[in-house]
Amino acid sequence: MENCIFCKIIDQEIPSYKVYEDEKVYAFLDISQATKGHTLVVPKQHVTDIFDYDEELAADVFARIPKIARALEKAFPEMEGLNILNNNKELAYQSVFHSHVHLVPRYSKKDDFSIHFGNHAEQQKPEEMQAIADKIKEQVK
Ligand code: 5GP
Ligand code: ZN
Repeated sequence: MENCIFCKIIDQEIPSYKVYEDEKVYAFLDISQATKGHTLVVPKQHVTDIFDYDEELAADVFARIPKIARALEKAFPEMEGLNILNNNKELAYQSVFHSHVHLVPRYSKKDDFSIHFGNHAEQQKPEEMQAIADKIKEQVK
């Protein structure tokens, strides 16, 4: 897609530090390097976000992630964990609107990377939890 920075990276119009490529995906170092080896895995097909994927594309992209994860682990044996993240839409921190999956190697609790899951369990009664689940369930096609 025109004016898409990740399409330009995939097409080699913009340089990148490539770590893996095949007919379906392109993986390269995130310029921010949140931690050493922070890698983005992107479908070659331009899709904006997760809401644009069909099952085949989702399978194609996720199928590649374990081997890239293992490559990171082998490349950096000091790695002690890996966060896999996919941000969708601006509110959820998406800043490049060509869908991508972040692989963020973790080295220590002090590696300047964090995710905060607030616990709001007390705000929902069991019947409200059931209503929420039912509402979603009805929409899964
Ligand atoms: P998002 O915020 O959309 O989840 O992630 C976008 C990521 O793309 C950011 O972590 C940012 O550092 C990375 N990024 C943005 N522009 C470029 C670029 O030109 N080259 C590379 N390698 N990464 C980029
Ligand atoms: Zn694109």
